[in-house]
Amino acid sequence: MSESSKIEWTESTWNPLTGCSKVSPGCANCYAERLAVRLKAMGNPNYKNSFQLTLHENQLEVPLRWKKPRMIFVNSMSDLFHEDVPLEFIIKVFDIMVRSDQHYFQVLTKRSTMLNKIADRLTWPPNIWMGVSVENSNYTYRIDNLRSTSAAVKFLSFEPLLGPIPDIDLNGIDWVIVGGESGPGARKMQKEWVMDIKEQCINKSVPFFFKQWGGVNKKKAGRLLDGQIWDEMPTAYEQQGANQTLQSY
Ligand code: SF4
Repeated sequence: MSESSKIEWTESTWNPLTGCSKVSPGCANCYAERLAVRLKAMGNPNYKNSFQLTLHENQLEVPLRWKKPRMIFVNSMSDLFHEDVPLEFIIKVFDIMVRSDQHYFQVLTKRSTMLNKIADRLTWPPNIWMGVSVENSNYTYRIDNLRSTSAAVKFLSFEPLLGPIPDIDLNGIDWVIVGGESGPGARKMQKEWVMDIKEQCINKSVPFFFKQWGGVNKKKAGRLLDGQIWDEMPTAYEQQGANQTLQSY
């Protein structure tokens, strides 16, 4: 439930809830669903409900116990803004993040409408980064929903990138991640889609992180884009020199 992560742009994951349901084409080959089914089969008690939405009150305080600062991806196995998660629980999760100010927290959602609806009820200190996933140009409204929040760091995850996304409004956006889908049935990401987003980021001085090409063998496909690794992080974070934790990980 709370372990070191292989995800390139974070260090650890914290899952005070697990399970979810599909909302858009980016969910079709959901990695969390596949993993939850596997963990249930292995007898992991936290996944006895497989991929059904489950709240884990006993996991709430985990980050408070991690004394060494970490970059933490919140809910890699769910979506905190799922319509069935009570507002009180979301507030509890935010309260823990506020109190664990030794860490950075990365919260990522596809339910930007819900985020937008309740954002004013939440506290947004600098260590909470809020992001939305956008898989193709039909979902750019999520970026507008994110922009209207008071999150100190706002980021976009174009993963799995399933189509071109021209003319992105990057105003107020602090970080962009791009990645292709991986695993069985992975849908192919075109290089020109990636290059176009990279150029848009460069033009607007928005840090760009290229996570992976993806595919059935993601290790082999790697993460070089025209021979270069793109590992940029949000500017405020770089200025604090905090990126050393990630780089030494
Ligand atoms: S929102 Fe995320 S966790 Fe939920 S089904 Fe879609 S991809 Fe999976």
